[in-house]
Amino acid sequence: MSALAASFKMVIRCHNCRKDVVQRLDVPAAEDAPTCVDELVESGALSQLRFHCPRCEGMIGSVRAVSEVSAQMA
Ligand SMILES: [Zn+2]
Repeated sequence: MSALAASFKMVIRCHNCRKDVVQRLDVPAAEDAPTCVDELVESGALSQLRFHCPRCEGMIGSVRAVSEVSAQMA
């Protein structure tokens, strides 16, 4: 089991069907791994995010909200 630096929960709106999809992002532990929402945004990871809508299989979505998931819930 590898350690995680942090886990985030993102709400992404699908551009095709206009539904909000909750997607989880686990960040593996690394020297410069983002550990809070601000660092995650600054890291540019959100722009490289692979989105795949489970409802319509759309591939384009925009991030509407990001929150950190506490380690206890991981
Ligand atoms: Zn969709």
